[in-house]
Amino acid sequence: MTTLAMLTYDDALERFEPVIGLETHVELGTATKMFCGCPTEFGAEPNTQVCPVCLALPGALPVANKAAIEATIRIGLALNCSIATWCRFARKNYFYPDMPKNFQISQYDEPLCVDGWLDVEVDGETVRVEIERVHLEEDTGKTLHVGGATGRIHGATESLVDYNRAGIPLVEIVTKPVVGTGGKAPLVAKAYVTELRDVIRSLGVSDVRMEQGSMRCDVNTSLSKPGAEWGTRTETKNVNSLRSVERAVRSEIIRQANVLEAGGKITQETRHFHEDTGETTSGRSKETATDYRYFPEPDLVPLAPDPAWVAELKAALPEPPRVHRKRLQDAWGLADAEMQAIVNAGAVELIEATVAAGTSADGARKWWLGELARRANEAGVELGAMNVTPAQVAQLQQLVDEGKLNDKLARTVLEGVLAGEGDPAAVMAARGLEVVSDTGALEKAVDEAIAANPAIADKIRSGKVEAAGVLIGAVMKTTRGQADAKTVRELIIARLG
Ligand SMILES: [Zn+2]
Repeated sequence: MTTLAMLTYDDALERFEPVIGLETHVELGTATKMFCGCPTEFGAEPNTQVCPVCLALPGALPVANKAAIEATIRIGLALNCSIATWCRFARKNYFYPDMPKNFQISQYDEPLCVDGWLDVEVDGETVRVEIERVHLEEDTGKTLHVGGATGRIHGATESLVDYNRAGIPLVEIVTKPVVGTGGKAPLVAKAYVTELRDVIRSLGVSDVRMEQGSMRCDVNTSLSKPGAEWGTRTETKNVNSLRSVERAVRSEIIRQANVLEAGGKITQETRHFHEDTGETTSGRSKETATDYRYFPEPDLVPLAPDPAWVAELKAALPEPPRVHRKRLQDAWGLADAEMQAIVNAGAVELIEATVAAGTSADGARKWWLGELARRANEAGVELGAMNVTPAQVAQLQQLVDEGKLNDKLARTVLEGVLAGEGDPAAVMAARGLEVVSDTGALEKAVDEAIAANPAIADKIRSGKVEAAGVLIGAVMKTTRGQADAKTVRELIIARLG
């Protein structure tokens, strides 16, 4: 192959148009599994939440979970879908070591919800992402590869299977191809997954935690020359953070553009996204629907949701997150751009919870969009994954409001909170960081500062009060930043004025 200059993202967008599609799996938070009564709690000892049905022992028969069906219909309704009046489960046949039946009960040509849409905001513009289908299926178990450095199968010495997750109800939400977004495609993908997460969370049907795998996203990307037919797509699997959704699309656009520009072909395949490098690598070549030999599940009766029940569910839907955000924006008195910054930072709920814990919107916003956003960015993690709760942020700001901490000390206290040393008040006490405003303790430091800086003291005596800054600085230094600057200033003026 001849060596060509590497195309950048902007080069890629000049030559090609991206088409993206998103398939999102959401584990429902039902108390029991999809087709049996096993509990679904996360983090239990391996293979303790299993029974003959979810282990697929001979003769065991599935029974559909009504709560899961209801949750799926509510998701479909919140995404403006039509709800089927009659549909069936199907067997999707394939071998996978963590799937005991060697088929997955899913839905194929008869999904529960079809033809919806979700509006998302990108750079102040509304983009309508059309939803092709929302269907219900069961999750697989989990394979753990041990003995290797990466936890992946390469280099592992053995693989262990945990069936606790096998049979947990899983909703799959598939978009139609999203076209015409150009260079904004990665942002649209991220905005969609974010909005979808917020919608599902507002319904209370899943905790939608990407880092725990209760929400997982596969991202399809293809490129085509303007006006030409759509190119071959790749499917980047299990992208497990919102940030990675954006990065995965971006890196796949760059990779495909370079392959195509060099005269190569894109292979229809699954790819794995690597958090560390921000790049994707080839997985397996993608099956087509016929490889799965779908057929209607003979052990389950068809689903026929009563339209009156569906209408009831629709009438009881909560306020959509977009409407909720607008209400918060008004309550917090923010301009559109200010609210957008909060949305972009993924901080709406964090700030809402911080305000609810008893601080002002401005105070909450200052921490989440300032110091915490900076640290999250440096660490390459989501804001919500930082080791601090909204209640702790509220307490931190209250200590500032009460004059017990200044901004600098508060940042040091926050460091302690992030390091797991406890609540802000406890960190402040344990590290002795409280602002010293007690005049007796400060007078000595002020006298020392005056004695050490006689020329400055003379200036102040002659009326140049602005020179007091030097003495305040000196007092701050001897008190390790813990003096209350206002009190120090008053003491200096009183001594020399
Ligand atoms: Zn079971």
